[in-house]
Amino acid sequence: MGAGGVRVLLLSGPAQGGGGVEKLAGALGASGLEVLRAGSVREALSVVRSDAALGAALVGWDTTDTAMDGPAGTGEVLRAVGERFVRLPVFLLVTGSDVSGLPLWAYKLIQGCVWPLEDTPAFIAGRIARAVADYREAVLPPFFRALRHFDAGHEFSWHTPGHAGGVAFLKSPAGRALWDFYGEALFRTDLSISVGELGSPLDHTGRIGAAERNAARVFGAEQTLFVMNGNSASNRIVGHATAADGESVLVDRNCHKSIMHALTLSGAVPRYLVPQRNGLGLAGPIPPSALARAGDGGPAVSAVVTNSTYDGLCYDAVEVAGLLAPHVPRIHFDEAWFAHGAFHPLYARRFGMAVTPEVMDDELRPTVFATQSTHKLLAALSQAAMVHVRPAPRAPVNPARFNETYLMHGTTSPSYPVIASLDVAAAMMDGASGTFLLTEAITEAVRFRQTVVSVAEQIREDRDRPGWFFGVWQPDHVATRPVEDLVSDPAAWSLEPGAAWHGFTDLRSGYCMLDPIKVTITCPGVTADGAVQELGIPARIVAAYLEQRGIVVEKTGDYTLLVLFSLGTTKGKWGTLIDALVDFKDAHDAAAPVEELIPDLGLTGPLPDLCAAMHAALQAHGLGRLLDQVFTDLPTPEVTPRAAHTMLIHDDVEQVPLDRAHDRVAASLVVVTPPGIPMLLPGENIGRADGPALTYLRALQAIDQEFPAFAADIHGVHRDQGGAYHLDCLAFSDSAVTPVPDR
Ligand SMILES: *Cc1c(COP(=O)(O)O)cnc(C)c1O
Repeated sequence: MGAGGVRVLLLSGPAQGGGGVEKLAGALGASGLEVLRAGSVREALSVVRSDAALGAALVGWDTTDTAMDGPAGTGEVLRAVGERFVRLPVFLLVTGSDVSGLPLWAYKLIQGCVWPLEDTPAFIAGRIARAVADYREAVLPPFFRALRHFDAGHEFSWHTPGHAGGVAFLKSPAGRALWDFYGEALFRTDLSISVGELGSPLDHTGRIGAAERNAARVFGAEQTLFVMNGNSASNRIVGHATAADGESVLVDRNCHKSIMHALTLSGAVPRYLVPQRNGLGLAGPIPPSALARAGDGGPAVSAVVTNSTYDGLCYDAVEVAGLLAPHVPRIHFDEAWFAHGAFHPLYARRFGMAVTPEVMDDELRPTVFATQSTHKLLAALSQAAMVHVRPAPRAPVNPARFNETYLMHGTTSPSYPVIASLDVAAAMMDGASGTFLLTEAITEAVRFRQTVVSVAEQIREDRDRPGWFFGVWQPDHVATRPVEDLVSDPAAWSLEPGAAWHGFTDLRSGYCMLDPIKVTITCPGVTADGAVQELGIPARIVAAYLEQRGIVVEKTGDYTLLVLFSLGTTKGKWGTLIDALVDFKDAHDAAAPVEELIPDLGLTGPLPDLCAAMHAALQAHGLGRLLDQVFTDLPTPEVTPRAAHTMLIHDDVEQVPLDRAHDRVAASLVVVTPPGIPMLLPGENIGRADGPALTYLRALQAIDQEFPAFAADIHGVHRDQGGAYHLDCLAFSDSAVTPVPDR
């Protein structure tokens, strides 16, 4: 591999004999390396912390050089290298007589010393260029390394894909545009599995097998499988591989629809574990008491727990495993939003693969599966996901048999670019590099959280304007504790029993924690314990305003907005968001016209009037209370998800308006976001006309009809031209209701 475009850090102080160092810099440049000169420890630290493309570091060592802060300064730079890079070649640039005084740990980090006054610059530069090339090869994970070599071979292909390394695209103008857009490399490496030397994800052989084993090591699993159809496929694989027709499965009611799909495929019978909700409408954890009682309905073959939740609540996975272990031999943690859990001490014990033989005896320990959307919070292409397995003697996992189910949910034409991105995602998280990247994301999230609170305080103190502002859903002490504490102390984020901020009850200390990188911004209107405030700023209006400014949030609730600080967050990116929130406040307080602020809505009138009208509507319908009833008083299952699907196949399904849907059975999943928890599952009875489900849906329908520009996000509801809701119901009888077309 060439070293073109690779940077080398060169830190030397003025006392280090200018001539030799100058010549060395010239020789490094001549060998194709870009030299970044740093004249002080501070400059060097900033390069080390911000430049991942560094290929080597040359660090001056001169005990007499005061500009360099002597050995202490050098030590600081070396330590920073160790905190970020694995195996980066580091050389000490020695101009004095010896390297005595170098601490022992530093010897481990450095690859050698160079003496610019003794050896020729060309010789030293050659040594360094060699080390850079070796390093750049060594950092590549198994599959991606092989893929690059394969690409360099420029073979002709006679197999699928038919675009043949991209050549087919060049034969048409649209194809040419695609080829130009993505560049040749994507197409050259989009290969079929007939390329034997790269291996196959279908039987986990070759370099792909090696990449999966490397990922298993990095994520702490006994076995890891790469999945190319998203974590939805991971969930179907695990669900379908662990429960058979008619067997009972304990299922977190706060589950993704792919869990439902797995039940439909397997014919298993779900029994639900019900999480709490708070006054903000956020879904909380399943209380420990519910897990302890989970066996009441009889034996079950496995349990599925969403960890973390969409809003960033993660469990002490070891405690959850201990509570569920008497009832089930297997636990499936859906960690779609938590692939980063294994890589920072803040999350110790919070992720599925933490349930190891070291923390739980084999007689009790359940087999654990963790399914992760690698693409959601780590760096990987969309659809890149993983299944991690840690089997226990109680429920062994035979890899060959498990693979039969894996194959049922995979494709026989997997995408090599997606596999390469999974391989690289694991490499990025390996060792010091993973902790460094997460520390950066967590630090940014904490700084954002603190800034929102301090802006709110400044506004309150400023007598000249109304005192309201947005808040952040978090423990109160987050506003005042030092950032370093908040980045390192898991207790700082715990949902402690009795603390007012979270609004949940029935917890144990340390059982559940808020992941700081998932930030819920709160708007005035309601509090976590359900109290209603006079001033209300519905979040949907804020979200529409932010979108107009080019800021798209992850999720919008009635009075909450969720933003994510992933590995892709750049420093200070959040400044724009705070600025926009302050502008929204000012526009509200100045009664600015909606048609100017958010022209896309097609509405007119002062912003505060719109906010007040929607706040009044949300409160008049008592949405918060209704939501609570929907999830306290669960619908009765009439048929299994599989039986409901059989009727769907036979078209024994009709769309029924809400006023006729009472006592009917749902044919498809109904999910209102937030809280994003299924309120009706296929096969469940919709209930009485004045029951919780229909009362809640009628309220949403009324608010939608009043504010059509802000229609709620509901999966499984069809709206007709007038905005009336219709539900898919199973047609057991001869009831003749004509379906409405989807709007
Ligand atoms: C997003 C999500 C999934 C599905 O993951 P994809 O990678 O989008 O297929 C599964 N479970 C939960 C909890 C999710 O949020």
